Amino acid sequence: MEIASVDDQIAVIDRMIKDRPDLSNPLELHKKILEAQRQIRGSPKKGTNLDWADKSIIDDLQRKAVKSGQPIAIFIDSSIFDSKALLHTIEQVIGALIEKGVKEDWPKNLLDEVKRGETNIIDLVSAALKGDVEYFNRHGERFGVSPALILFIVNSLIQPCLEEISKRVDPSFLERWWKAPCPICGRRPMVAMLRARKRHLSCTLCGAVYLADLFLCVNCENVDPYSLKFLAPEGHPEFRVDFCEKCMHYLKVVDESRLKNPIPRGFEDMMTIDLDLMAKRAGLIRA
Ligand SMILES: [Zn+2]
Ligand SMILES: [Zn+2]
Repeated sequence: MEIASVDDQIAVIDRMIKDRPDLSNPLELHKKILEAQRQIRGSPKKGTNLDWADKSIIDDLQRKAVKSGQPIAIFIDSSIFDSKALLHTIEQVIGALIEKGVKEDWPKNLLDEVKRGETNIIDLVSAALKGDVEYFNRHGERFGVSPALILFIVNSLIQPCLEEISKRVDPSFLERWWKAPCPICGRRPMVAMLRARKRHLSCTLCGAVYLADLFLCVNCENVDPYSLKFLAPEGHPEFRVDFCEKCMHYLKVVDESRLKNPIPRGFEDMMTIDLDLMAKRAGLIRA
């Protein structure tokens, strides 16, 4: 699957803002992040020093992931990243957040620390690749913000590279993964697409679409069909919310065959925000 250019993606978002003015805030932020990533997205190395067209690199990562059952991101050596490109991008991303109205000082303080080298940008990237929750908790505590916000910034630095890998892996790798966390980046999915009665999990960070069992809680990996239930919103047969009675987490499911207008790739989570409200009212937890 080809990754659309930044300009093409921005054109899609502009059309979406017209259709869904209620989502203009998150959509505008998305646009700004794309702009911030423009330099990395435009280069074939995607912010690293590797030539991703070299199939042996992808094959090696894929082999390690299959053998260990761990996502590819774990096996990416963070030293492949080009700190100059990352520095440029983090400055743009933080600028975008400030422009979008983040009033607190922490993004600027984080940027200053990174620029002075007090916080090593490669360490930030390494922690995001390894899914090191502890690391982000520590920084979150220090700045007095949710660790998820810091992770959001760092994710935007590695997203173009992860998308590139996701585009280049073998389709059979994605079809045979059969586990809940994303095979590329390790994030847990929030949305799945139903195609021919198969649940294709969709990763918002790297764009991977991969297969997993219909009866699997993507949060706690519960496979007992009797405690896996679903909610159906009235008048919307194209949507449902699968949930697990054991951990009370949920997954939004879109039945593509019943969708009137296709949802642009990568926007499945944002465009199904009404399902999050329904799930919240039902006492369910978003991962
Ligand atoms: Zn992913
Ligand atoms: Zn569960």
